[in-house]
Amino acid sequence: MNDPSWISFAVLLLIMAKWLVQLWLNHLNQRNVLAHAGSVPDAFKDSIDDATYAKSVQYTLAKDRSGRIELTFDLTILALVLFSGLLPWGFHIFTGRLGVSAWAMAAYLFATGLLLALPNLPFEWYSQFRLEDRFGFNTTTQRLWWTDRLKGLLLALIIGYPLLVLILKLVQWTGPHWWLWAWACMFAFQLVMLVLAPVIIMPLFNKFTPLPEGPLRDRLLALGLRTGFHAQSIQVMDGSKRSRHSNAFFTGFGRFRKIVLFDTLIQQLTPAELEAVLAHEIGHYKKRHIPKMLVWSAATTLVAFWAIAQLAQQAWFYRSFGFEPGSIAPALLLFGLLAGVVTFWFSPLAHWWSRRYEYQADAYAARTMNEPRSLIGALRKLNEKNLSNLTPHPFYSGFYYSHPTLLEREQALLATAPSA
Ligand SMILES: [Zn+2]
Repeated sequence: MNDPSWISFAVLLLIMAKWLVQLWLNHLNQRNVLAHAGSVPDAFKDSIDDATYAKSVQYTLAKDRSGRIELTFDLTILALVLFSGLLPWGFHIFTGRLGVSAWAMAAYLFATGLLLALPNLPFEWYSQFRLEDRFGFNTTTQRLWWTDRLKGLLLALIIGYPLLVLILKLVQWTGPHWWLWAWACMFAFQLVMLVLAPVIIMPLFNKFTPLPEGPLRDRLLALGLRTGFHAQSIQVMDGSKRSRHSNAFFTGFGRFRKIVLFDTLIQQLTPAELEAVLAHEIGHYKKRHIPKMLVWSAATTLVAFWAIAQLAQQAWFYRSFGFEPGSIAPALLLFGLLAGVVTFWFSPLAHWWSRRYEYQADAYAARTMNEPRSLIGALRKLNEKNLSNLTPHPFYSGFYYSHPTLLEREQALLATAPSA
């Protein structure tokens, strides 16, 4: 039963199953988009003109096309890395040269992670400087793009590497219940990052400024007063530095909360529409969505660490991928590489949950504004300006969309506010 070659075969089947389903979802989506490509569907006649709609179809198809290539590329790399003996070979070199200390093991994990991220770099580059550029979204310079990658690497080194060392040390210090300790540390780390990321990390990449004085600021401050949200934490981010895509988001919790509006969003929306978007973000705060997500994330992290602890006790788990049992590091690495093969199947559930939150925030915004029209107007413009796919296949959006589609949100908004 626990014969390593059978386990490898089963894992390969799981990887292939995910790849096939992803290709199939991609195909369904492409077919759905093409089926509606001829003319603007009736439901969107008011929200988008013919030329923009045609462009959004082309954008979706282009992204699907490069998505398919990337899926197959990723599958090939993962299978090669897992079954070629590359990982145990690297492990031997590291332990031979650096020993088996937590610092050395963490270095092995970090270096392997870094090496595995490299093959995707050309895809990221292509997406930004060819695909996004072709559709007029890219504003990133080559220099900025490479600087971003370098900053990301340094951050991973400064934050990620010590965290890895700590977890490996905990395994040595705390014995069989190490996974509980590791989980507690990870949770504390997540809490700290939720507070520190907007203050320390995000400013490394973007400039955040308070809203400038004027009628828009007055209007948003009034909304803040009305809803009991401190408007000092409304900030404008220079998103236009990298892309013409527009967005808004809510981050942090308690005193550390912050609502961020992209400068591109402020250029595109009317003051009433911006107020509605802000009301939506305040809705996330009022409904305590971030603490709820945090609890959910803590629960899944607990399951993950427990699973790693269980797998690390199984000799077959190591031998299936060419390792010898004894060190926790290969178990962490293999789990990291394979977790996605399992979690992928739960993504519709996670997205269903996140879409519920979006509906709640939308309903809150419509109630606060006393009308749903401004938010609908904002959503239509956001979809139009970002060339969003207006007709995704329901399976595709189920697996990949954290937000409901434009049509779903409009219908929900009109249903909750029949007076409009
Ligand atoms: Zn939202």
